[in-house]
Amino acid sequence: MALVARTLSGPLIVEVRARAIESLGDLLTDRRIVTTGRVAIAVGSGVADGVRGAVESAVPGAPVSEVDGGSLAAARTLADGLRGSRPDVLVGIGGGGSLDVAKWAATAIGVPFVSVATTLTHDGLASPVAVLEEDGYKGSYGVQPPIAVVVDLDLVRAAPANHTRSGIGEAVSNLSAVADWVLARRHVAEAYDGLAAAMATTAALAVLNEGRETTDDAFLETLAGALVVSGLAMTAAGTSRPCSGACHEISHAIDRLFPRTALHGEQVAVGALFASFVRGDRRTAEIDTCFRVHGVPRLPGDLGLDAAGFTAAVVAAPGTRPGRYTILEHLDMDAPTIRERVDAFIEAFDR
Ligand SMILES: [Zn+2]
Repeated sequence: MALVARTLSGPLIVEVRARAIESLGDLLTDRRIVTTGRVAIAVGSGVADGVRGAVESAVPGAPVSEVDGGSLAAARTLADGLRGSRPDVLVGIGGGGSLDVAKWAATAIGVPFVSVATTLTHDGLASPVAVLEEDGYKGSYGVQPPIAVVVDLDLVRAAPANHTRSGIGEAVSNLSAVADWVLARRHVAEAYDGLAAAMATTAALAVLNEGRETTDDAFLETLAGALVVSGLAMTAAGTSRPCSGACHEISHAIDRLFPRTALHGEQVAVGALFASFVRGDRRTAEIDTCFRVHGVPRLPGDLGLDAAGFTAAVVAAPGTRPGRYTILEHLDMDAPTIRERVDAFIEAFDR
């Protein structure tokens, strides 16, 4: 019989709610993720002591490693430290970088990974990709996606506002990424996955049309769901394509030219709005409105960049991801033309 459907590996558990961390131990044993009782925990150095205490009481006796930053070196150190103990599972707790470090380490030692998000900063919480820094450059590494994803809404609500804004930019940028994918399908016959594109688009639209306040639990649940589904879209596609186009190329270029400008999703948001503008997308105004309502950066100035700096990033953007066809590769603009488009973009949206 012909294969009539595909199977998709995704997390066994997705738990998004207040005080989710307190029931972490039960969640691991009830679903038989932990069988021999050996749980290893990796906590980001930025995670508050109170959270660490809650984790320690939820999973008593589990060794806790502290993870500093989001580098490949930190991931290797964590993996080396855990190799001898053979835990049933590695639980990563933190925001952006520390989850990527723990996810890479879990894959390296061949144990399942449980992702516990304390902020909704980017779409790495359920994705098969770890973004890690080495020698000043950020690289994307393919990893096993998490077996469980836990989002504690109390912690997310208490996180600095720019973290949630970054998550909004990340989720909504899927619209721009998928538009680039459609362009690549049409002009360079790139393989296109309609299921992955539908998942990424639907996740973005859920956030775009949510309508509630940024700190409302219902909004945060929608955002968490959108970021989880974005991760699944990447797993379905086997590539970051459904969630990463010109928006991400521009953000990577900002990382290289002007390190530590802003959070990943904040840079991606400006990249997505600019890319949507130069593509002439029908949803550009809706994206702009959504970003304005939630205080997400929209223009280079919102990131602290001037027009010349942002132009330099757009010029450098295609070089950050050779082989990826987006609106930037399609238009193949020279630097003066890019500057004209950047000026027109700022004039159109600076209000
Ligand atoms: Zn991203």
